[in-house]
Amino acid sequence: MDWPRTPVERIPRNRFKPPFCPRRECPSHDRLEFRWVRDGTYSRKCDRRIIQKYWCKSCGKRFSQQTFSCTYYLKKPKLLPLIAAALVCCGAARQISRALGCSHTTVICQANRIGRHTLLFHSISLEQLRAVREALALDHFETFQFCQEMQVGIGTAVGRLSHFVYGLDPAPHKLGGIMTPGRAKRIKSLVKRRGPLPSGSYKKSVERILALLIPKVPDGEQLHLITDGKQDYRTAAQSHINSGKLRMDIFSNPPRRLKHEPKSADAKVRDQAMFPVDLLHKLIRHCMANHKRETIAHGRRVNSIMLRLYVFIAWRNFVKDKSERRPQNKTPAMDVGLVDCFLNWKQVLSRRLYPWKQSLASMDSRLYAMKMETPAVGRNKHHDLVNAY
Ligand SMILES: [Zn+2]
Repeated sequence: MDWPRTPVERIPRNRFKPPFCPRRECPSHDRLEFRWVRDGTYSRKCDRRIIQKYWCKSCGKRFSQQTFSCTYYLKKPKLLPLIAAALVCCGAARQISRALGCSHTTVICQANRIGRHTLLFHSISLEQLRAVREALALDHFETFQFCQEMQVGIGTAVGRLSHFVYGLDPAPHKLGGIMTPGRAKRIKSLVKRRGPLPSGSYKKSVERILALLIPKVPDGEQLHLITDGKQDYRTAAQSHINSGKLRMDIFSNPPRRLKHEPKSADAKVRDQAMFPVDLLHKLIRHCMANHKRETIAHGRRVNSIMLRLYVFIAWRNFVKDKSERRPQNKTPAMDVGLVDCFLNWKQVLSRRLYPWKQSLASMDSRLYAMKMETPAVGRNKHHDLVNAY
């Protein structure tokens, strides 16, 4: 994967060369030849560091070395990697703000920025991945948005051997499980106050994940998908199975058993086949404050939940060892051949990424712009800032 390790801020200003004009409307934005001149410096308020300024010869606009950094426009740039690390260590916004000595709104804004960056980072990693050559285990991670009566499934596709997380996709749906009179009453009052609850979308979610991954399967080969017995998975995959690009193995979930009862043979086979995706779901519950059982830190908007999960999968794929109990000295991204060493958060956040310079899937574009709405929240703020991205 072509990803620079040295953060832009650490490159001495006499060695840094701006790669393109950061203005989207400038003719030099996408062109390889880019003519610029140095145009003075300024002293950054937070640490008095001298920052080089530049002048674009094409559009005549000014920019600086910081324009290419993830910490562009931030008053406390040092917080960014610390917040990223805290988000995957069970930190909720106010807990992180107390530990770092900043406002909780700072944590929320910067967490969203890191989420958008990791979404683009994941998209680049998939773009640069040559081929998917291993079986994938696919299942939905169940969580809540806004309140416990509004369920959302997050589709997760995980490499069976590498444990690399290939895809994430949201599927808000109606409440499952046993409908007690109390729950029915709460749902009725919620629908009355906040409008209809989101309808089932497992099928669309799996279709979107497969649309991203099927083109990565080399000609003449098949994508091997392992799922549980949900009918929506089979329906979504049928067209790819018919075209011969997909092979699907289904391991139905066994009936629930009491804790002291031994596992049936079928349950053992299912658990073995689905181990990578079950492990990912356990890690999400273990490492993220908003997915703990009975938490008061649960996500309010499905869009924010997704952005936090992109932070998590950047950590899982590039930062964390594949197994910490049995250290393998490699990350899932090293296993699939994307990188040759571990990355730390400073390296993951080493460059600013621009959404319009990448080809994003439609769901990723919606998530980046915070346009996936949760009607129950009321006003869903979209992200339309350009400079303070
Ligand atoms: Zn320009």
